[in-house]
Amino acid sequence: MKRMMIAGNWKMHLNVHEGSVLVKRLNDHIIPHHSVEVVLAPSLVSLQPISQELDHRKFRLAAQNAFYKDEGAYTGEVSFTMLRDLVHYVIVGHSERRIYFNETLETVRDKVQAAVRNELTPILCVGETKQERAANETRRVVHDQVTTALANLTAEEVENMVIAYEPIWAISTFGGEISKPDDIQKVLELIRSCIGELYGDQAAKQVRLLYGGSINADTAAGYLALPDCDGALVGGKSLNYHQFSDIVEKAYHLQSSQRRTRGQDRKTEEN
Ligand code: PEP
Repeated sequence: MKRMMIAGNWKMHLNVHEGSVLVKRLNDHIIPHHSVEVVLAPSLVSLQPISQELDHRKFRLAAQNAFYKDEGAYTGEVSFTMLRDLVHYVIVGHSERRIYFNETLETVRDKVQAAVRNELTPILCVGETKQERAANETRRVVHDQVTTALANLTAEEVENMVIAYEPIWAISTFGGEISKPDDIQKVLELIRSCIGELYGDQAAKQVRLLYGGSINADTAAGYLALPDCDGALVGGKSLNYHQFSDIVEKAYHLQSSQRRTRGQDRKTEEN
């Protein structure tokens, strides 16, 4: 059974002290579960101090962004190479970066490649705007984002990565419309089948697909239970330790009940 992932994107919130306060609370509140991987993506300046305070049996760290060159005269940037010993994951292609920092399909592709080259796992974000959705272009947009970003990767590299479907209209900072889980399942299914066509069944089956868009403790289970959903990317609510711990618990309960069902199915087949 695949490990579910619950990742918290703190965005440009919390200074080093505030981040440390939240980490202490999360260290106390979150119970380690083998079936659920919990990832925190604080701001860049907080990564190092948080790495020292974090209970590494419970959490892994992600960076929110990095530049695709390994080193050079790129004032103000931080490379994937520099993050290698600090984080497991790097969020790539978040809609806020595509929109506010003009990241193109090709920039996102270069960042995915830089992550893989530096043995970091990208959490690739894809998703359509409200206008694209209204024009029935969701499938085309998501297909283009996925295929461009994964170009030149091997099936094994794709199999190990994480892709978050985050429709822009559902993200809290862009309006936060509540999506219907059935609609989300259709797009997750499309992403999985697109990977299957390009990289084969094993990659399609193993790649972890997350959903993100205004998830909270009340709505989380509806998305996490979707057949093609392997976790969640949580923005706003990851800053609230009650909400975030509750979302992690929801994931854990779902994983446990799915395990039990599979165990019972196996027993029925054996009898
Ligand atoms: C995000 O920014 O990745 C996100 C999903 O944000 P929110 O949960 O606040 O909509």
